[in-house]
Amino acid sequence: MTALIGLQDCDTSIMAIQTKKEEGPAKIHGLKEGLNVMEKRLEAEINQLEEYKRDRRKSEQDIEDVESRIEKSNEKLSNIKSNKEYQAALKEIDGLKVEKSLLEDKVIEIMEEIEILEEKNVGAKAESEKLKEEFEKDRDEILKELKDLGQDLENLEKERARFSQTIDKDLLKRYDHLRKYKGGVAISPVVKGICQACHLGIPPQKFNDLIRGDELMDCPNCMRIIYWSEDEGLQNVIQKC
Ligand SMILES: [Zn+2]
Repeated sequence: MTALIGLQDCDTSIMAIQTKKEEGPAKIHGLKEGLNVMEKRLEAEINQLEEYKRDRRKSEQDIEDVESRIEKSNEKLSNIKSNKEYQAALKEIDGLKVEKSLLEDKVIEIMEEIEILEEKNVGAKAESEKLKEEFEKDRDEILKELKDLGQDLENLEKERARFSQTIDKDLLKRYDHLRKYKGGVAISPVVKGICQACHLGIPPQKFNDLIRGDELMDCPNCMRIIYWSEDEGLQNVIQKC
């Protein structure tokens, strides 16, 4: 029975480690996703900034064009003879000046947007860098933990093998079968007449037999192999668990 308890203890620990080992890569994946979201946001902001800068350059180019048109119109003015033509040219120049003024307003607006976005960008960049550093630190920690878990697992497998060697082959088969179909728990202590795996009571006569400890018994409800939790002979092993 002591070997069985030891074996179950090993298997329970192995299961816990395997679960943890599976969680590691998922955790890393989750962290990476968070970082990706942040980096995408930053990229979008940078693209937006570039777009504003392109807009500004375009508007500045437009201003230059309007200016040269105004200049040309002014040159034409001196050659105009008729009053009507002169008035029309003046009107054209006024129109161009309004156009230029609107473009200048637009450039100022764009520059304000650029300023806001650049400031935001500095913050987002710093945040992104920080997040990246944190991610790398967390990832390395998880990877180290996984490595340690791998070592623990190896040790447990060795211990498990040692226990297995001392257990009768048929009993070991029964144990493995139970473990497979009973959620990884093949044996269970009985405390005050209650099976600790299924939490149901053992009939009094059966419980008395269990306390006597003459034979290996199983729980009439969940069929797991049971042992009396207060058995002094098993106490050392149980405390180890
Ligand atoms: Zn039970």
